[in-house]
Amino acid sequence: MAKSGQNVSDIKNANRSLLLNILYYDGAQSRKALAQKSNLTPAAITGLMAELIVEGAVVETDKVTTEGRLGRSEQLIDINYLSLYVIGIRFETESFETSLVRLDSKMTAKKITELPFCPLDRITFGKMVSATVQDIITESAVDVAQVVGVGVTVSGIVDSEHGASIDSYGILEKDLNIVSELMKTLTFPIAVENNVRSMLRSDSILRHAKPLQSTLFIRYGPGVGAALLVGQKNFIGSNYRAVELGHISVEAGGDKCVCGKRGCLETVVSYEAIVKNAKKIFSAEQAPVLFESCNGDINNLTLEQILSAYEKEDVGVNHLMKSVVVRFAMAVANSAVLLDPERVLLASGIFTIEKFAKQLQNAISFFSDQHKPRYLMIANSSKLDKRGAACVAIHAFLATGAKTLRDNKVK
Ligand SMILES: [Zn+2]
Repeated sequence: MAKSGQNVSDIKNANRSLLLNILYYDGAQSRKALAQKSNLTPAAITGLMAELIVEGAVVETDKVTTEGRLGRSEQLIDINYLSLYVIGIRFETESFETSLVRLDSKMTAKKITELPFCPLDRITFGKMVSATVQDIITESAVDVAQVVGVGVTVSGIVDSEHGASIDSYGILEKDLNIVSELMKTLTFPIAVENNVRSMLRSDSILRHAKPLQSTLFIRYGPGVGAALLVGQKNFIGSNYRAVELGHISVEAGGDKCVCGKRGCLETVVSYEAIVKNAKKIFSAEQAPVLFESCNGDINNLTLEQILSAYEKEDVGVNHLMKSVVVRFAMAVANSAVLLDPERVLLASGIFTIEKFAKQLQNAISFFSDQHKPRYLMIANSSKLDKRGAACVAIHAFLATGAKTLRDNKVK
């Protein structure tokens, strides 16, 4: 089990992590089952479990199991879901949401804080986030020792290894090391992740489903974001920019993108781009249904009006949406060909429009090879998004083998 360069403490944390992961993803277990599943000796399991129980990371449940017909009944051990908490901090364009989430993923408190200005500088960021974390703990009457980690999510380029937001496109100042800033006042372990990668993490954490060998996650709307999970690890690339699907070039000399390039996928398929392009065909001749539903006034034009005209077979809007579907499907199918994931998870509120979902499915099949991966389309991904930051902290708790509790010895 030991790798070169690992010391005894590292190995211990790795074994603790292994056991916590088994409990999290397979449910409560007897010591005997834990030994079988982990390949650790019964003596090692007894020692590690005693330690984790004293620290409060796991508990003996009142459930028992009988192993084999003549076996002795054994008490089941489980993670101490009801006593441990994480804090999730999710940055949006004009505010951040702080949530206190119990390890069974039940949210027990939530606060929304408006940003006084954007981009937020590091000093104001540190002060505001630390104060909010301290407030939510105090107001919820939770013991500080019960909080096992903080997860922070933000959009854009995130260096999760060093806990820094490199470029959030205007929300936070560039190259802001979130972990260093928060560690000035907070003592919890802090994990930082890009918001879309956190959604993919939430998918396995919330369902207690072990991540597959590989999953490609694509979120569509308002822009396009993507993430690739390989085993337990988010693939981040050499410059933390892996799978930036929204910023692959699809049109030479196309419109200018937020990233600075021209003709990115987002400049064609983002919600903003759809509205912009619908304005170009806004006339009684080109888009009659849309024109009529807006009473001929371009100021009434919204994404909802466009999608409604699309469902009502407006000729101009049909043409516009066809190009959106084709470009998006091509990007998705090409990514799947390139990465060969076990599963592709597509999330978008727009999938509630059956016509769009159907056209997209057909287009993806058209551009896919015979060995296409399993595709799963989800129309409501708001829970994955809202719990993302907390799930990043839960993952860190499992991955580090509850290191914080070992360091603090709370009980
Ligand atoms: Zn771009």
